[in-house]
Amino acid sequence: MAETPSFDVLVVGSGASGLAAAVSAERAGARVGLATKTTLQACNSAKAQGGIQAAFGEDDSPEIHAEDVMRSSHDTADPRLVEVLTSEAPSAIHWLEELGVEFTRSNGGYRLARCGGATRKRLLQVGDRTGHAITKSLREAFEAGSGTVLPQHELTGLRPSENGWIASFSLKDGSVDLATGTIVLAAGGRCYREAETRGELSTNHPNATGEVTRVALEAGAAERDLDALQYHPNGGAWPRTMQGYSIPETTRAYGAVLLNADGEEFTDSLGARDAVSRAIFDEIENGKGVLTPDGRPAVLLDTTRIAPEDAEISLPYMLRRYRGAGIDPLAEPILTYPVLHYQNGGLVIDEHAETTLEGVFACGEIAGGAHGRNRMMGNSLLECTVFGRRAGPAAAQRAA
Ligand SMILES: Cc1cc2nc3c(=O)[nH]c(=O)nc-3n(C[C@H](O)[C@H](O)[C@H](O)COP(=O)(O)OP(=O)(O)OC[C@H]3O[C@@H](n4cnc5c(N)ncnc54)[C@H](O)[C@@H]3O)c2cc1C
Repeated sequence: MAETPSFDVLVVGSGASGLAAAVSAERAGARVGLATKTTLQACNSAKAQGGIQAAFGEDDSPEIHAEDVMRSSHDTADPRLVEVLTSEAPSAIHWLEELGVEFTRSNGGYRLARCGGATRKRLLQVGDRTGHAITKSLREAFEAGSGTVLPQHELTGLRPSENGWIASFSLKDGSVDLATGTIVLAAGGRCYREAETRGELSTNHPNATGEVTRVALEAGAAERDLDALQYHPNGGAWPRTMQGYSIPETTRAYGAVLLNADGEEFTDSLGARDAVSRAIFDEIENGKGVLTPDGRPAVLLDTTRIAPEDAEISLPYMLRRYRGAGIDPLAEPILTYPVLHYQNGGLVIDEHAETTLEGVFACGEIAGGAHGRNRMMGNSLLECTVFGRRAGPAAAQRAA
């Protein structure tokens, strides 16, 4: 067993939520450790393309944003968490900008898109590599500070101690117990593992396996809505190299529509995610789908309706990927099918991101409540930033 260092705050997971918590805990004066299963870069957050929601439009407000969240969740979200999420969204964006994130701008303001379930244009983007830009800036901010990075540390257990918590980790060669005043669980969801079990495709990074949620439940934390998993309506269905790729929802924000085999629009392409996914499943069930060359069910996403200038500004990465695979989305529709994408529920938290266990915090996809049973696009990166930024100082204060 290796030597046991001790931290005020130990953060587990290096996606957007863990990085936001680690940076803000360190800035609150805590001795911070950032432990992560493989490398610091490995996470779902960096794969996020579409964008992040915040009410900046002249016709918009945090209250309207909150109403959209509650309606999309079918009133299952926790209104206290939703209020925090939407009211702190603008300041979270400014915080990210201070750390170096450069959101795409047009006409002197942010370039805002309307995403599924939203009544206003509210989605900020960094091209279509928004998650990459956010995690890069957060990572650089943490690495510039005095915190300790602990890569290749997989959390396997958690138990209370006299002065806080003991976290057990599996290493490449052996194991280690780390003592900490408080702990922030930011290890993401479980959709990669779940898709593997079901024999389905997923958009997720292979590290999205969910064992940290199990560790927290075994330690006595409460959960909510853990059974509610979300399908991304637009997984890539063909070509083979794009299967499981999450086609950015901004394709639909910029004019793409879903068509059946007869070329008919069968649903509101900017509906809430669960409604759009269900409509695709139903259309295929009713014999109105198409088949991919390898025999998988699909429908058409007519991306030829996107204006080329919008595509160049807001979808360059997607265009590059498809064109590299031999298909030009601006010249022909692409084939799509829903894929497992997001864990809507998770550990119960309060407004400060503390779970039902004192000194154990949770933020990002591992936490439940802010989206209820159906998340809107663009609110996960927001949740990571808002609640990560709350968890860090709260965990530092609790540890002091
Ligand atoms: C392809 C894709 C596109 C998306 N697009 C958008 C979008 O446009 N807008 C939006 O808001 N959301 C989007 N999402 C959702 C959003 O990106 C994620 O839900 C969010 O980033 C999750 O952040 P996180 O910090 O909670 O977890 P993650 O980013 O998944 O990070 C979890 C971290 O925990 C580590 N970890 C896991 N298990 C352990 C363990 N046992 N011990 C130690 N460390 C562990 C992982 O290695 C990783 O570093 C998208 C998701 C995907 C997959």
